[in-house]
Amino acid sequence: MNELEKLQKQILKCRICRENFGFEPNPIIFGNQNAKIVQLGQAPSKRASETNKFFDDQSGKRLKYEWYQITDENFYNPDNFYILPMAHCFPGEEKNGHDKTPPKICYQKWGSKELELIDNKIYIVIGSKAAKQLFPHEKFEDLVFKDHTYNGKPTYILPHPSPLNRRWLNKHPEFLNKRMPEIRKKIKKNIKK
Ligand code: SF4
Repeated sequence: MNELEKLQKQILKCRICRENFGFEPNPIIFGNQNAKIVQLGQAPSKRASETNKFFDDQSGKRLKYEWYQITDENFYNPDNFYILPMAHCFPGEEKNGHDKTPPKICYQKWGSKELELIDNKIYIVIGSKAAKQLFPHEKFEDLVFKDHTYNGKPTYILPHPSPLNRRWLNKHPEFLNKRMPEIRKKIKKNIKK
């Protein structure tokens, strides 16, 4: 068992947020140390928490098939993607139906250590909550439309593909027309088919 696998085993047992959530935490993990792309996001959805599978919902369909234009086989290949949310557990919902903000402790305690053990080439960051945690001083629009580096590696920021984010996408048509095709090229260059 390598160092990352040992860490993953510890994460799966983690229940630090039990009291804060008010329900039993369910940590979800995907990927291995050879993954070429680390995809950083907010926290698993309720559905992901129920199925133990990331992006197997409407947001996932848009992300995988429309934005990345890759198959499930490519996406769920642990040598291609390491899926690292800011929190490994679904944190519950706000009254307005949006998922709660991921507890910061998870990335501090686990995520940052996982990153040290993965030999990825690029980062993809999904959604404003994850972007804000990693780039607290930048405006979200500036993050999406410019190239960045994180841990010294090329980093690309996407809006969240959730249907609840339709307004942002309608307001920024250049994202799908221009920016996403540029980012898609970087993704395809780094995955095995
Ligand atoms: S969100 Fe992270 S820190 Fe909190 S219980 Fe889940 S694995 Fe542990």
